[in-house]
Amino acid sequence: MGKLNGFLEVERKENTKVKPEKRLESFEEFYVPLSTEERRRQASKCMDCGVPFCQSAMKLSGMVTGCPLHNLIPEWNDEIYKGHEKHAFERLQKTNNFPEFTGRVCPALCEKACMCGQWGEPVTVHDNEKYLIETAFEKGYITPFVPSKRSGKRVAVVGSGPSGLAVAAQLSHRGHSVTVFEREDRVGGLLMYGIPNMKLDKEVVLRRQRLMEEEGVEFKTGCDIGSKEYPAKKLMDEYDAVVLCCGAKKARSLAVALKNTGDAGKAGAGEQLVEGAYYAVDFLTMVTKGLLSSGDKSSGGMRKLSGIPKVAGKNVVVVGGGDTGNDCIGTVLRLGCKSVTAIEMMPKPPVERAASNPWPEWPKVLKTDYGHEEAIYRFGEDPRVFSTTVKEVKTGKNGGIKKIVTVGLSWDNGRPEEIPGSEKEMDCDILLIAAGFVGCENYVADAFGTGLTARGAVMTGEGKYATGVKGVFTAGDMHRGQSLVVWAIAEGRACAKEVDEYLCGY
Ligand SMILES: Cc1cc2nc3c(=O)[nH]c(=O)nc-3n(C[C@H](O)[C@H](O)[C@H](O)COP(=O)(O)OP(=O)(O)OC[C@H]3O[C@@H](n4cnc5c(N)ncnc54)[C@H](O)[C@@H]3O)c2cc1C
Repeated sequence: MGKLNGFLEVERKENTKVKPEKRLESFEEFYVPLSTEERRRQASKCMDCGVPFCQSAMKLSGMVTGCPLHNLIPEWNDEIYKGHEKHAFERLQKTNNFPEFTGRVCPALCEKACMCGQWGEPVTVHDNEKYLIETAFEKGYITPFVPSKRSGKRVAVVGSGPSGLAVAAQLSHRGHSVTVFEREDRVGGLLMYGIPNMKLDKEVVLRRQRLMEEEGVEFKTGCDIGSKEYPAKKLMDEYDAVVLCCGAKKARSLAVALKNTGDAGKAGAGEQLVEGAYYAVDFLTMVTKGLLSSGDKSSGGMRKLSGIPKVAGKNVVVVGGGDTGNDCIGTVLRLGCKSVTAIEMMPKPPVERAASNPWPEWPKVLKTDYGHEEAIYRFGEDPRVFSTTVKEVKTGKNGGIKKIVTVGLSWDNGRPEEIPGSEKEMDCDILLIAAGFVGCENYVADAFGTGLTARGAVMTGEGKYATGVKGVFTAGDMHRGQSLVVWAIAEGRACAKEVDEYLCGY
């Protein structure tokens, strides 16, 4: 299998990125695919190593490396190399319902574990996957799969993020009748309202929704399940099984940014942020809603839009140096901010793997993502400030945010301790809180009586998806905590299997 010596002959070449000066002009996706010929060459680098860690999803030193979906990577790379894209796609489809999402946004756990990466550069698995799914759509290899017989069983899926979509697709393929209930006005969860358009164009989500509708899945938006209008009991009475896939949207609060309180103990339900401060997902959602309603993806057009926070000419501070923070940076740059700074509590990671973090472990290294690159282009320096936190928020006469005070942190004792005298004041008109998530919103779990773990996830047995309530299951971030799209799909598939066994008795 594979091209003999391909791993020696072929240098890794990724899809090219449009240069920051150009891509900052719009909210369009900015990766340019390689030619088919070059893509096949890239696939030929996969060397059938015999020990495909890439598809293993092993836990090493507490972190998973390799694909959680166990994608049959060497097999489809070989088929791409040989020019058999249809066969390759058939192999890919066996394990992944939505390669168009993972091929765009997955941090590629597979590549971190690729054998070629031990001494050199890994195979471009992530880009190869995107090539396959886009080729499949273009060439018509994907057609709606409608089962010849329906089982007569009805399933309600609550939440239409990648986990809910995966549950729905799998159970519909098995012949059950599935309805997906979504609180928002559009389907997709964080794929729609969270991940910005430049990383995942929303037409890609709609394309999948249309396909699933053709397969017989019903979508009902604007339904807040667990509220008075849509009580849990109604769903449990009307459906044979209910699957809760509501995500883990409860944001970690920033006590100093709360109105009338600097008291961390008071952060929680009912809290109000000072004017000018937003939780990252709320902010990103407003921007995407604006973009979709106006239909204008140009940065200039978006800056003029009413109904989204005015960012142009403002100093923005993002609290949190992770992926969500990076998406905020990319977004505010397009909206014309005057400056952007990202405050990160953790120390700066090394640029290269430490000796204690060898291949194929997940590399704990500094990741300079698209938003960071764009900020470096625009302002000449990395926007991230490490080992730092926000100590105080100063508001102006109208109650709006004006400045913040930061303080340096020492990690010498293994936990963060303020460094006396390291306080700094910084102009800040908009504060975006991207400090992580603390679990799912309680009311859905309360309404169904499932119970939550101490980490705010719906309780199930180890490696199981059934809750303690008969006929009620859970998957995705609501089950495992805020995670990744690839894990949401993997959970959705595994959960669907358990639901199917429950419905069929085998
Ligand atoms: C800003 C941001 C960027 C990210 N970027 C990436 C990335 O690049 N790559 C990656 O792999 N992962 C990324 N993630 C993580 C990834 O998006 C999530 O892990 C994934 O979407 C979880 O899927 P899910 O289906 O479990 O939940 P979600 O995607 O959160 O979907 C849950 C859905 O349930 C709905 N819902 C909630 N309550 C109810 C109710 N009562 N009734 C009806 N519907 C309800 C919500 O409206 C939502 O649509 C990112 C996360 C964020 C916040």
